[in-house]
Amino acid sequence: VSFFQQIPQAAPDAIFHLTAQYQADTDPRKVNVGVGAYRDDNLKPYILPVVKKADSILFHNQNLDHEYQPIAGQKTYTKASSKLILGEDSPAFQQNRVVAIQTISGTGANHTAAAFLAKFHKKGAICLLSKPTWANHKAIFNNVGIQVAEYPYWNPSTRGLDLEGMLAALEDAPEESIVLLHACAHNPTGVDPTREQWQRIADVVQKKKHFPFFDCAYQGFASGNLDQDAWAVRYFVERGFELFVCQSFAKNFGLYGERAGNLTVVTRTAEQAQHVLSQLEILQRSEISNPPAYGSRIVDLVLNDKQLYAEWNDNLGTMSGRIIEMRKRLFEKLQQLQTPGTWNHIVDQIGMFSFTGLSPAQVKVLKEQYHIYMTDNGRISMAGLSSKNVDYFAESIDKVVR
Ligand code: PLP
Repeated sequence: VSFFQQIPQAAPDAIFHLTAQYQADTDPRKVNVGVGAYRDDNLKPYILPVVKKADSILFHNQNLDHEYQPIAGQKTYTKASSKLILGEDSPAFQQNRVVAIQTISGTGANHTAAAFLAKFHKKGAICLLSKPTWANHKAIFNNVGIQVAEYPYWNPSTRGLDLEGMLAALEDAPEESIVLLHACAHNPTGVDPTREQWQRIADVVQKKKHFPFFDCAYQGFASGNLDQDAWAVRYFVERGFELFVCQSFAKNFGLYGERAGNLTVVTRTAEQAQHVLSQLEILQRSEISNPPAYGSRIVDLVLNDKQLYAEWNDNLGTMSGRIIEMRKRLFEKLQQLQTPGTWNHIVDQIGMFSFTGLSPAQVKVLKEQYHIYMTDNGRISMAGLSSKNVDYFAESIDKVVR
């Protein structure tokens, strides 16, 4: 008998399946607002000009080879990445209580952090996830044997944050739970807490001795300002929390396929930091041995060079600016069409995604009759809109909601 005989066919990944359906569609009007990858106004993948420059520098560097990287990645890379999120002058650096390890992009950072918690956090501790959240979070925690629960986040009637529901759930959860928080540009809703709301969230996390687990996949992509997008994480550090921050350079560097990520850990003491790093290295060695070089070399170059860093900021402005512009154009067109319902949330939400509030049935009609592809939850990637298709997109929404 074959061992493989008993293996059931799994369903395809929703997002990658949606992209395949879009690609197979031959209608010239088709629109892909499914996948979370930036596109320029011609809807083409975008290589950041600063990344092109770094590419060329690497290409001409005679000293580079294809040797293994250190287990935790290059220190110049991990340190610059941690500084990017925590801020150059974070007291945590002065007190030597920050360590970091290079990961397989943001997904790998989440996984490594989760695996570490499975090994060392209180047995049976659950991880609290926002409802809704990035589709991969639950699977990542479940894969390492951590059970998840949800806290309310999106309020469909206000199309905004359900702060009271969130706080109550964090309050009701067992002490010392893991709380996963999106640092900025919440995926999929595009709704972030305000600074006052973050303070109240921190109060409950502190009171209940929860462990803050930040996932930061969009720094600089939300507001266009790297510091502003890091505010929540820095605020938690200022308040004295020990925490994890997962960083991805997929979106803000456009390095999706290069898998450059980082896991930053802030501890209470310098000694703890070294212990944690040593254990992360043990974990990393058994899982990937050592991280990939190429993407991290690009990030390393840019973060550690004043001029390239300034250029990167400009490039981030281009990307976030186009997305903000598309939000405006879409909102204005819906207003002009007098589309039923309120649409302010399109311009109020932040980052790559907008949670439209469209129902699964409406999403289905948009796909089948209008060749518009979005996830079933009504989330759209703003980067899939352009000056050429935004009107068609708005007109289609208008017809479907009437
Ligand atoms: N976390 C969130 C919330 C995301 O939206 C994403 C990407 O979509 C990631 C993590 C990780 O992405 P990657 O592994 O490509 O860096």
